[in-house]
Amino acid sequence: MPAREKSEQAFQRALKLIPGGVNSPARAFGAVGGTPVFFQRGEGPYLWDIDGNRYIDYVASWGPMILGHAHPRVVEAVCQAASRGTSFGAPTLAETELAELICEAVPSVEKVRLVNSGTEATMSAIRLARGYTGRNKIIKFAGNYHGHVDSLLVAAGSSAATLAVPNSPGVTPGTVQDTLVLPYNNPQALEDAFARHGDQIAAVIFEPVAGNMGCVLPREEFLEALQRLARHHGALLICDEVMTGFRVAWGGAQSLFKLEPDLTTLGKIVGGGLPVGAYGGRAEVMDHVLPAGKVFQAGTLSGNPLATAAGIATLQELKENPPYQRLEELSARLAQGLSEAAAASGIPHTVARCGSMLTLFFSPEPVVDWDTASRCDTKRFAAYFWGLIQRGVYMPCSQFEALFVSAAHTPELIDQTIEAARDTLAQLASEG
Ligand SMILES: *Cc1c(COP(=O)(O)O)cnc(C)c1O
Repeated sequence: MPAREKSEQAFQRALKLIPGGVNSPARAFGAVGGTPVFFQRGEGPYLWDIDGNRYIDYVASWGPMILGHAHPRVVEAVCQAASRGTSFGAPTLAETELAELICEAVPSVEKVRLVNSGTEATMSAIRLARGYTGRNKIIKFAGNYHGHVDSLLVAAGSSAATLAVPNSPGVTPGTVQDTLVLPYNNPQALEDAFARHGDQIAAVIFEPVAGNMGCVLPREEFLEALQRLARHHGALLICDEVMTGFRVAWGGAQSLFKLEPDLTTLGKIVGGGLPVGAYGGRAEVMDHVLPAGKVFQAGTLSGNPLATAAGIATLQELKENPPYQRLEELSARLAQGLSEAAAASGIPHTVARCGSMLTLFFSPEPVVDWDTASRCDTKRFAAYFWGLIQRGVYMPCSQFEALFVSAAHTPELIDQTIEAARDTLAQLASEG
């Protein structure tokens, strides 16, 4: 068993100064117990922790690192940009270049505003939708995550169409009184909500493939109802592709499912591992953003030269050497291997996958929404997670996250991962 003493010491030190020892809660291993691994280096498909252990990485910084770590083209672009100055607070050519790449890849995005995170993107898109429609209410889906925007931080797990209640202290009832939480993949709940509140709904925000309750695929009827009802009632459709954008396809999930959202939010891959988010959509809607229009949104570091350099280098690499076919093959191999490994040990499971995002759920039934996701065996997941860590595989530390395959992974690494999972699951089964 590899030593992780330095990680343990580092965590103790961090705990004294940083709440929970981490700068984002997903890193804290809360769902699996134990001490988070501290990393010092990444290269291609690998990460090295501060004790010198190497792992095959499937977290990919929670999505951005589709090219693998420290990709030479991205590193070079960032270093060159840094040497020219890190921030001017004035327009640069690189911002337009990144906008051009985004608009070319995602045709529903005619105009785009760059921000600094996915959270900022969804927050701004919601404000814009309200400003544009002059309406207050928004619909979101249980188990979908759109960053830590107050009005979107509402109880996931409710299976009925209810007026939401805050699920974080500090989020006031007033802030979320206009947020309706509905079950994912349920066209009837959507019909009912629009029938009751149709003329007050500014927008529906959704993950086109859910990745934040584990990977959950959308049903065709659900996507159809979303588009039809939003259009019929004059509400904007906000497709949150912060995770799926440039991940499941060059054009995002909307290109796979032929969606025509009014607004799209992006993040993660568009920043190539630096802090970038973006929101964009129909020019006529986007022109309501200040200073073209009146909806306020600003950012001292928005469109920052380092971040745009990393984003442009990543998108150009994806465009010139599309990895999507290979990612599909690698990920299908991994999905099948994990499923067979669980089956070989008689462990109830189901695997969901879209392109290079996937989840092995410890559930005997298909996972279609938050209700079914929440019935998974999370204890077994925790044991599985630690078994893989011992065997040099770094997976997301929660049953309710998708894992990511990168273009730097190889069939050999996928097979090693499957072997590690087979070993781990066999041990779990024998322990009962
Ligand atoms: C990660 C994520 C966000 C939030 O992005 P941050 O950069 O973490 O603020 C929003 N929406 C979805 C779908 C995400 O996966």
